[in-house]
Amino acid sequence: MPSKAAPAYDPAPKSAHYEFGGPLGALGVTLAVPFFSYWLPFAAQNGFSLCNFVDYHRAGWRAMEDPAWWKSLWSTEAMIVYLAWYAWCVVCALVLPGKEEKGVELRNGQRLTYKMNAFATLVATMAAIAGWTAVYGIDALLYIPHHWAQLVTATTLFSFALAFFVYGQSIVPELFPKAFEPPMLALGGNTGNRLYDWFIGRVLNPRIGSFDIKAFNEMRPGLILWVVFDLAFVAWQYERIGRVTDSMILTVAFHAWYVFDAEFNESNILTTMDITTDGFGFMLSVGDLLWVPYTYSYTAYFLALHPLDLGVSGCAGVLAVQFLGYYIFRTSNNEKNEFRLGRNPKNLTSFQTERGTRLLTSGWWGRSRHPNYMGDWIMAWAWCLPTGFQSPLPYFYVIYFAILLVHRQTRDDEACAQKYGKDWDKYKRLVPSRIIPHVY
Ligand code: NDP
Repeated sequence: MPSKAAPAYDPAPKSAHYEFGGPLGALGVTLAVPFFSYWLPFAAQNGFSLCNFVDYHRAGWRAMEDPAWWKSLWSTEAMIVYLAWYAWCVVCALVLPGKEEKGVELRNGQRLTYKMNAFATLVATMAAIAGWTAVYGIDALLYIPHHWAQLVTATTLFSFALAFFVYGQSIVPELFPKAFEPPMLALGGNTGNRLYDWFIGRVLNPRIGSFDIKAFNEMRPGLILWVVFDLAFVAWQYERIGRVTDSMILTVAFHAWYVFDAEFNESNILTTMDITTDGFGFMLSVGDLLWVPYTYSYTAYFLALHPLDLGVSGCAGVLAVQFLGYYIFRTSNNEKNEFRLGRNPKNLTSFQTERGTRLLTSGWWGRSRHPNYMGDWIMAWAWCLPTGFQSPLPYFYVIYFAILLVHRQTRDDEACAQKYGKDWDKYKRLVPSRIIPHVY
């Protein structure tokens, strides 16, 4: 097909700067994410503690000298299981009904259409699991913890393949410019360094027809799998000790709550940085598919191996933390999202920017520049506290999440400074706190 008339905007401007420490940082994250996805469950299984740090790793190193150890990480069956899971999510996205929503205006003036049926996919998945478990028992769920490392391998390989696929989608039109229309590249994804661009993501909205690869992977195969994994860990704890502890019920309920809430409010992602600004590359592919389900479910994995009873007061304390975090997270995200979609039910104050959009200056967004991150982080505590204080391992999540949110806030601040210029300086003067009012 010959290309259509050249668009008036530049689809592939050269990116001005690196993020994540440039190519070296990209390589570091590319290696670190799979590494920690293996390391965390092994550590929970093999008695890691801060006191035996050196001996633990020496023993691990010796185990790795045996080729059988490496072979145990791979299974063709686990690869097929993972591919079947991914295919199920694709089929659900294609066939289940869903409202169509428009995304924000892109820099070529267009708005993409997205089918919102992630919640329907989640419900269909839960119904399928409930039906299967009622008829055949928990063996299918137990497959997951019993083949955990092999599933990590399958998902890692798939994440690499997906990242190469979308990178290819960006390169082919450059090789055959007469045959293909150039895709819109993300402003930060075209530095010219191949490793970095592959990692950070070149194409802003890679699609196959109307199937949006980025929105699909953000909301379905990883996020829903997180809940499936949690259910598998409930089954695993039951298999190991013959009952399910209150701590396990709480951590799984909080995770499920987060995922159900995200899927129910699926259209909220249309105004997030991932969708509006970042390209889709290995960073999002491995983040969405591997990191989220395999490490965010870790507290449940840990509790299956190290059960704990919290009692009534322990449960009440943890619930209070969860409710506080959720309230801040949900109301602040709703305030911004409603506002960006042209509604302002609380009559919040805002000011007009030269860019055309307005910035909220009251409500949550008048207290800090990222109140939603604060709520999210408080919830992260509620997910870890049910594991008690037997090990620092499950608390990796609050530490990692704090780093992620501070880094993300810095990136968003830079992006907004570019988008809004002196209007952003004005907003920063009006709202000086970055995440936690009066603290940070
Ligand atoms: P936000 O939803 O916070 O969106 C940031 C954008 O909001 C800015 O770029 C700007 O875009 C707009 N904005 C900023 N200030 C204002 C204002 N005062 N008034 C109106 N609009 C404003 O960013 P994220 O995508 O990072 O986060 C979305 C949610 O996802 C958060 O709750 C976060 O905690 C969560 N999250 C969770 C992760 C996890 O792993 N669990 C990972 C990442 C995020 P513009 O003005 O162009 O509209």
